Amino acid sequence: MDKIKNNVSAAWKSVCADLEKKLPKHAMHAWFDPIVAVGFRDKSFILEVPNQFSLEWIESHYKDEIMLSIKALFNNDVEYQFFVTKTKKVDIKKRNSSELLIRPRVKRFNNLNDKYTFDNFIVGGNNEFAKTASESVSNNPGQHNFNPLIIYGGVGLGKTHLMHAIGNNSLKKNPDLNILNITSEQFTLDFVNSLRKNRTIEFAQNYRSSDILLIDDIQFFRGKEQTQEQFFHTFNVLHQGGKQIVLTADKFPGEMKGLQSRLLSRFQSGLSVDVQPPNFEVRVAILLEKADQNGLELDYSIIEFIARHIKNNVRELEGTIIRLLAKSSLLNIEINSQLVTEVVKERIGGKIGNEISIENIVKKVSEISSVNEDDIVGKSRKMEIAEARQVSMFLCRDIMGVSLNNIGMFFGGRDHTTVMHALKTINKKQSTDDRMKRMIVSVRKELGFSFL
Ligand code: ADP
Ligand code: MG
Repeated sequence: MDKIKNNVSAAWKSVCADLEKKLPKHAMHAWFDPIVAVGFRDKSFILEVPNQFSLEWIESHYKDEIMLSIKALFNNDVEYQFFVTKTKKVDIKKRNSSELLIRPRVKRFNNLNDKYTFDNFIVGGNNEFAKTASESVSNNPGQHNFNPLIIYGGVGLGKTHLMHAIGNNSLKKNPDLNILNITSEQFTLDFVNSLRKNRTIEFAQNYRSSDILLIDDIQFFRGKEQTQEQFFHTFNVLHQGGKQIVLTADKFPGEMKGLQSRLLSRFQSGLSVDVQPPNFEVRVAILLEKADQNGLELDYSIIEFIARHIKNNVRELEGTIIRLLAKSSLLNIEINSQLVTEVVKERIGGKIGNEISIENIVKKVSEISSVNEDDIVGKSRKMEIAEARQVSMFLCRDIMGVSLNNIGMFFGGRDHTTVMHALKTINKKQSTDDRMKRMIVSVRKELGFSFL
């Protein structure tokens, strides 16, 4: 022990020489060369490291190796203690935070989707707060308490759109910003590749030199301990340097499983905003915007029909418009009610009209035809009753897709050939008889299926 005290520097050098046999060259160079052994106190090497980040990195990656080397060279009681160099700490505070990060700063290519902007993001009560917070962050990245900003919520509700809009808007204001936009899977892959190729330093440098780091879908970090570790350090360096971090996730950070608690507690120090499914009016507005973007003119009744059926996912609304466009141009047909029903059915798995019941239809037909509901489902063959019954059967099939047998059963236990006959009769009448046409249109309208 005295031997160490007499020449701490030489003793530490011998530890490093031992470490060199076990660790890759670049690791020695990056992490151990800057360490200065400044003393030996209470049976411990006192070691200076240049910054907090190095300290955490070395402790989390090389602690065991260091202890093994020390024990191999000296006796079992010897330990070590790190502390961050004081003079450098002052320097760091004085310096502009961007200089803290690794240089040279090369403007990098970013893969922001320029279609995702704040201008074309439709706002409703479901996403208003998320949009306001995102805009505010993009106007002053890293400059207020919204760091990190976490946008969370279900699939297809605009999280990625908002994240890219933050990047696009920040870049418009300051084209020199380095914006790194990546999914959590890409981050993981990048990290794993850097491990394979012994390029973890470059990996760290790359991420830590961004002014705004945007990471999409962080729930995929779940269970990936080493990646989370990396991300934790990256997060800290950027956060301490006053750089903006924006993350998206499928859940509120407090409810995320499989992420380290120290990460979650960092997340909660910023601002979390949610996006919810849009209500009917917002869905209509989104559909109008998407139709417009795609140069498609749609009747309001068609827009309303789609908005009534596709509810929980904006991506689906958009997908329906694209699909309509694709089908009509591929098949070279007009966008008509049949095509719209077909496309909507495809997207929601054929459950069109599932909120409408047979009773509903009978009730509406009864109101419009002034035929009693009981008569409609009864046995009477009186002409106006039989007609109201046939109209009801037709609409049950057309709107709800009920099977012929089930329709027959509901309407007084009739067999499927009777139902088939009713459907044919009404189908024919609605194209030749104006009164019948008006009646069908009215019932549809009452049921929210006006466009057909
Ligand atoms: P998430 O990331 O939440 O799964 P996205 O951001 O990928 O969802 O959104 C899916 C699609 O819906 C995108 O094309 C996006 O532009 C669009 N979208 C979502 N919300 C809105 C909105 N409020 N206004 C306009 N388009 C939206
Ligand atoms: Mg997304």
